[in-house]
Amino acid sequence: MPAEVKLSRGCVRCGRSKDRHTPETLVCPDGRSVYATLELPPNTTCSDCQHFKRTCEWLVSCQPDRTSCDWYPVRFIRLEAKNAH
Ligand SMILES: [Zn+2]
Repeated sequence: MPAEVKLSRGCVRCGRSKDRHTPETLVCPDGRSVYATLELPPNTTCSDCQHFKRTCEWLVSCQPDRTSCDWYPVRFIRLEAKNAH
């Protein structure tokens, strides 16, 4: 089993897609974990997150155009809108 975390819509615990998990409870096929994803909210990237500048970019050289988080659970917190109007 590759240890690499895939940046896809798969589960970060088992690598399988959501529909491979137990309905309702979303337990992984191995029964030891629960479905989890690192995806950011729709239409957002890492550069939209409060943690990006002071943590991700500096600490782990994250790219601003990423659409999934390296942290689990996802730490995404949306920045205040720069242009509200
Ligand atoms: Zn899983």
